[in-house]
Amino acid sequence: MSKAVYLAGDFSGIQRYVLGVKSAGKAQAKRLRARSFLLELFEHAALWTIKERLCIADDDVLVRGGGGFLIRIPPDTDPVRLEEIRSGLQRKLWDESGGEIHLSLGWAETPLTARARLEVQKCRIGFSMLQSSGGWNPEGWCQPPLDKPCEVCRQAPGQQSVQEDEGEEVLHCRSCLEARKLGENLTRWKWMRPGGSSVRVLGVAFETLEIQTPESFQVGRWIPRHSDSREPLTFQEIAAQARNDRRLAVLKADVDDMGVRVGQIAGEDRSYSRLRSFSYSLHEFFGQTIQELLAKSWPLIYTLYAGGDDLLLVGPWNVVLDFAGTLAREFETGPAQEYSPLTLSAGIALTSYRVPIRHAVECAEELLESAKERPGKNRCAALGADWSWRQHKPVVGDGKRLADWVEAGVAPRSLLHRLLRLAESAKPLSAARWAYQIERNVPRRHTDFHRWANHVLEYIERDGQRVNELAASLRYALLATRPQKEGRDD
Ligand SMILES: [Zn+2]
Repeated sequence: MSKAVYLAGDFSGIQRYVLGVKSAGKAQAKRLRARSFLLELFEHAALWTIKERLCIADDDVLVRGGGGFLIRIPPDTDPVRLEEIRSGLQRKLWDESGGEIHLSLGWAETPLTARARLEVQKCRIGFSMLQSSGGWNPEGWCQPPLDKPCEVCRQAPGQQSVQEDEGEEVLHCRSCLEARKLGENLTRWKWMRPGGSSVRVLGVAFETLEIQTPESFQVGRWIPRHSDSREPLTFQEIAAQARNDRRLAVLKADVDDMGVRVGQIAGEDRSYSRLRSFSYSLHEFFGQTIQELLAKSWPLIYTLYAGGDDLLLVGPWNVVLDFAGTLAREFETGPAQEYSPLTLSAGIALTSYRVPIRHAVECAEELLESAKERPGKNRCAALGADWSWRQHKPVVGDGKRLADWVEAGVAPRSLLHRLLRLAESAKPLSAARWAYQIERNVPRRHTDFHRWANHVLEYIERDGQRVNELAASLRYALLATRPQKEGRDD
């Protein structure tokens, strides 16, 4: 029996490409949507090209989604042919993404070695651009001079001014014009498949479909819309739906120790069919199940990216915090049940809609990293603290109850500030000062509040670390009760 050969692929520069757009104005949400869609098409087109050129069956695509793939290819595949495919795809990607996205490919007789070769390839990004057939091609690096750069991406020469929603003229380059056109069409498209002529990406034509077929994939991701006009909501309009403080939250979530788990699952079964079902069920969970859930129950949440083993969402801050709990539960009863041990962590960063969303994405990433540094991972980092998913509902729930109490006049809002100062400064929390503040500010008849305050002292006495969760609940309540001044919305 001949041995198989494995081809690993990985896209880099994804986040910079998707988020690297002009952020001022109402068009930010539209541009992000078009770019994340184009990115999905790049992935489909690259995979399709490789499958067609090497005559690969679907069963041999072992891992896909999340900006990478692993394919089993015929053992007698000519390496020269693979090199050709690689440089061809890289060249087209370079042109069509304005030099932002790179595809690295590595192949070997085991998935692990293929992956290692791919890492080496990644270090030589751009190398193939410098090689033309048989020699060096110094022109490969040269971009045209940027006298008047595109005002959207600032990466390519501007070609045409386009009037935006607010009437502002914005200079676009060729690829940003394409993305803009795509973005406008996206609202109408439902399914796509290779073939036809609706749109061409990396030399692969795609057509749009009204219904799902075996080769089709769902176009675009869930985004909030006006109920009457079906026009997408702007980030400002999404923020306006938040509880009191009109802030957005960016949620970034991904599977903990993904690389380790992939290695274990691959080791369990040499035919890699379990690895394949693992990859597909994760991709389906993030790319489909969660999307359906948003459409059904969380219509105010905007999807920046969903697929592979991760998720990037934006929504009204309090809605996103609630949704995070649902996401963790769905994951636990879904993929985590089938492929245990498998956990998920999330970072949630709050931001104003006026600030470019990429800053909050960076913050959410840092928070996610901090959650993953804790032993056991499986956590959510937000509101200046992090907690295990088991505590998510109590942390958010206490925040809501406190806000409700303030709104109902049970306790003054200034008490929240004092309690937060206590929680932040005194470690361990001073029970005497805590009780003093409660007695002084909340009448005895509000027994619920007093019961809650006693309960807090009990759990913090048992576990001093949980004072951080208390602080998070207090911050939640402060945001949810922040006085709104006329005209202030950030
Ligand atoms: Zn541009």
